Amino acid sequence: MTLRPILLHPDPRLKKVCDPVSDLSDELRVLADDMLQTMYDAPGIGLAAPQIGVTRRLIVLDCVKEEGAAPRPLIMFNPEILASSDERNVYEEGCLSIPDHYAEIERPAGVTVRWIDRAGDERQEDFDGLWATCVQHEIDHLNGVLFIDYLKPMRRHMITRKMQKLKRERARD
Ligand code: ZN
Repeated sequence: MTLRPILLHPDPRLKKVCDPVSDLSDELRVLADDMLQTMYDAPGIGLAAPQIGVTRRLIVLDCVKEEGAAPRPLIMFNPEILASSDERNVYEEGCLSIPDHYAEIERPAGVTVRWIDRAGDERQEDFDGLWATCVQHEIDHLNGVLFIDYLKPMRRHMITRKMQKLKRERARD
């Protein structure tokens, strides 16, 4: 497996609406495995294909946080939110494409998601807690939406300016 470089905001590829996956090739399975490895290595709890520059509808996540608990890697092709709860939840979110910036974001507390798994089978599951927040954050990426897009413009622009500075510094090194 190969670690893939993670794109940093701002990047036009992070603002694209991604294309659905129509046939599940071995190439896409390898890509999904690489994404999981890249996510665990970061470390993070979710990663979307556009974050590694591939504008296809593919996300991976694993929100198991308990020490010693078995990992639960999920690979989702073409994930879709079928239903969202009226109840809402606030989590402090971060993003591997916007390192070191965090903000409290309010989202539906529970979601029903349908997707195609690594084997090509259709799956459906209800998520709550951190899983619900994470899967919504990752699906947002497939529509070119970042968590900072939910913030007030002034804060969003401040974070973007800091990220531009960070990218300039990294480009110089
Ligand atoms: Zn993210």
